[in-house]
Amino acid sequence: MSPQSPTDARDSPASSASGEKKRKVADASAGKKRGYGESAGLANGSSSHVVRRSSISKPGRDQRDEPILKHRKKRKRRQVAEDRPKDNGDQVQASSEATSLSRQESPVVDFDGLSRPSIGTRQRLEESEKEKAARLERMKGAVKTLLECVGEDPNREGLLATPERYAKAMLFFTQGYEQNVFDIVNGAVFQEGHNEMVIVKNIEAFSLCEHHLVPFTGKIHIGYIPNNAVIGISKLPRIADMFSRRLQIQERLTKEIANAIFDILQPQGVAVVMESSHLCMVMRGVQKTSSTTITSCMLGCFERREKTRNEFLSLINVNRL
Ligand SMILES: [Zn+2]
Repeated sequence: MSPQSPTDARDSPASSASGEKKRKVADASAGKKRGYGESAGLANGSSSHVVRRSSISKPGRDQRDEPILKHRKKRKRRQVAEDRPKDNGDQVQASSEATSLSRQESPVVDFDGLSRPSIGTRQRLEESEKEKAARLERMKGAVKTLLECVGEDPNREGLLATPERYAKAMLFFTQGYEQNVFDIVNGAVFQEGHNEMVIVKNIEAFSLCEHHLVPFTGKIHIGYIPNNAVIGISKLPRIADMFSRRLQIQERLTKEIANAIFDILQPQGVAVVMESSHLCMVMRGVQKTSSTTITSCMLGCFERREKTRNEFLSLINVNRL
């Protein structure tokens, strides 16, 4: 393997050096706000956090990424009771609670900008070069085991570099875990006074089915009706990309994209439709090679008004099938 190639998986534009720096700054300030020590809680975070959750609404998460409103509220009340006379302290606490309140309303655009990560996301984001190498080694070992288990010889020439290649490919397929909505949007929200429907259609999407780790690919159509604020048009495919490059089910992917845009823009409405073909259906199981799965998520006025919804559906031409 040539010396340049190891960079391919991780050094995509989004996780380049400058992106990394930005994220670290964001992380550090979030950590301070929430009172986390820099290296605190990695171990106990993962061990005390093995909780089964419904996969659609609440993915398993690193403890440090959990919203902390409830605890803080209780603690705050206790503190307020203790320090009644201290007016100044109260104000500070009240304002910090207000911030966390507004964050709380936004489950997708997380207060730390990680955008609904999973257990292990932080480890992946914050690890050193040494830990990165160790992660790759572990993945290579796992792929080697897979090769042996399917009856192959991992030492034959054609397969020698396969574990490494696959490990890097897997990290690329899931690079969405290293991205977050704040970095992607990067302030590209403009108060244009525009209130007509905006649609970006036929966004190519490649994702991995979380049940079989097999790809599902297709097209995503995104529409929204602004409430004055519009988002840089290229950000919509990038948001779709970020959520696609994680382990997903199509239903959740559709919903996460819609919710993220809704949270960023507070528009009149957001509509997301995804049509895709699942390799786990095509290559195995029912083997329906030409079936398309369509999911949609309609928020705000798209949910309320049939006329608006139909206008969107006819513009993306999803009924042509
Ligand atoms: Zn599947």
